[in-house]
Parts: sequence; C-alpha cells; structure tokens
Amino acid sequence: MRSILDLILPTYCVGCDIPATVWCTDCAASLAVFPVARPDLRDAYALAEYAGPARRAVLAYKERGRRELSTMLGGALATVLPTIRAGPFALVPAPSRPSAARARYGQHMTAVAHACATALIRAGHQATVAPVLRLSGRARDSVGLTPQARSANLRGRLQCTGRAPTTAIVLDDVITTGSTATACVTSLEKAGTKSVTVLAFTATT
Ligand SMILES: [Zn+2]
Repeated sequence: MRSILDLILPTYCVGCDIPATVWCTDCAASLAVFPVARPDLRDAYALAEYAGPARRAVLAYKERGRRELSTMLGGALATVLPTIRAGPFALVPAPSRPSAARARYGQHMTAVAHACATALIRAGHQATVAPVLRLSGRARDSVGLTPQARSANLRGRLQCTGRAPTTAIVLDDVITTGSTATACVTSLEKAGTKSVTVLAFTATT
C-alpha cells in the first residue's frame, strides 16, 4: 500500500523508473547468483550482469549519492550468501581509494557490508563486518587501464591493515577484470585468511 509520503514525494525504481519503491519487485526478481570466472580468481560470484537495472542501481549508489540503496544492495547480497557458503560470515568490504571515498561520502562498500550483516543477523545467521582492507592514495583510478596495468597499479597498494578473519567474504559492487577482487584475496591470504569468497552485486561479461 502506498503511503501519504509516496503521494507527496513519488518514488521511482532506481532500476527501471516505474513508480514503486526504490527497487521494485521485478528488478529484485531479476537477480540470480552465478559464478564469475576470471584468471587468478578462484571463488567469486555475482548476482547480475553489469547491465540494465543492476548497473543503474550500482551507478546511482556509487556515483549519484543515493545512499539509501546500501540497504537494498546489502539485503540482496545477504539473501544469496547462505546459498553459496555456510556462516558465520566475516564480511570484508572491497576498499575504495581515499580520494574516491571522500567524493562518495565514505567507503561505499562498508555501508553495504553493514546492511548485509544486519540482514544476515535478522535471518538468524552470525555475521560481522571486518573493514580491514585499505587502498593507498597512490593507486591511480583504474578506468582506461589494461588488465596488466590495473594489477600493477594495485600490487602492494591494497593492504590488510587489521586482523584478518580466518574465513572471509569480500563484498564489492562490480567485478570487471577481477584485478581488485584478486588483490583483495591476495592481501587477506597474506595476512592469514584461509578461505576467501568474493561476492559482488554485478560482474561484467
Ligand atoms: Zn525496477
């Protein structure tokens, strides 16, 4: 049922523009987990191709400041996580560069990880957020770089700066070349994590 607020301030689905909630049931139903294959990345999954409504949701959240979408993104990840791994879940947000994080009002995947943990706990699972990965400010923006250049750009700059969980779930918004995800996995393993799964909202084909 629509509330009086909807009548004053109509809400449109961020994925498909129909008047609805911020993420309509059709867009939600379009998500389905699948394994993501990339060189050097063993255990990675995504919920949608980086296209259509899912891509629009990521861009609205990340680039257009739609902060409230962290709840939807985290909730969607929480729905599938128990279908691919057993808990308890230590959620590690993929880090943004400090300059990008400032422009986005903080580490955008950390807010998603907290929303994901909240949804998991509500569903009866054990979940914590371990924001232990940092990307140093020297890393250049990866847009336009070749996969080799992206890896070189990240090597040594993405580090685990806290206590690495024994088993970790790295959460990200999109897997493109897989360089960032691979750097996250490598850093965690170096810091003592025995098993890392990467779960992204989207992945490019
Ligand atoms: Zn929609």
